[in-house]
Amino acid sequence: MNLNWSNYPNFERIEFECNCGCGRADMDPAFMQRIQKMRNYVGPMKITSGFRCENHSEEKKKIRGGAHSIGHAADIQYSSARQLAAMLGVAENWGFKGIGVSGSFLHLDDDHPYLDRSNCIAWGY
Ligand SMILES: [Zn+2]
Repeated sequence: MNLNWSNYPNFERIEFECNCGCGRADMDPAFMQRIQKMRNYVGPMKITSGFRCENHSEEKKKIRGGAHSIGHAADIQYSSARQLAAMLGVAENWGFKGIGVSGSFLHLDDDHPYLDRSNCIAWGY
């Protein structure tokens, strides 16, 4: 997949690269548009995980690769409770379908290889 990273001016490819060493960053263009829109809305955000191939340590724990493995997910280390609240306020309306909240990061995805994402689902870690 050849993504035009200049379409997402606040992000660099390396932020979304799988950290297993494979160097892949096969993010979905529509997902990246949603993340850029979120960045425009809430300001600087740190991506802690983007694309993950089947050899990534988190994906290896699963029976099958999840949303990260198809380039439809990112984990965002939010900078404040206010920023988190702002993102949660718009995520579903902006097409994110999987919303996971932990004490330090927010997982957003808009598609999944085998779980039903026809309705938005939210969970805590
Ligand atoms: Zn990898």
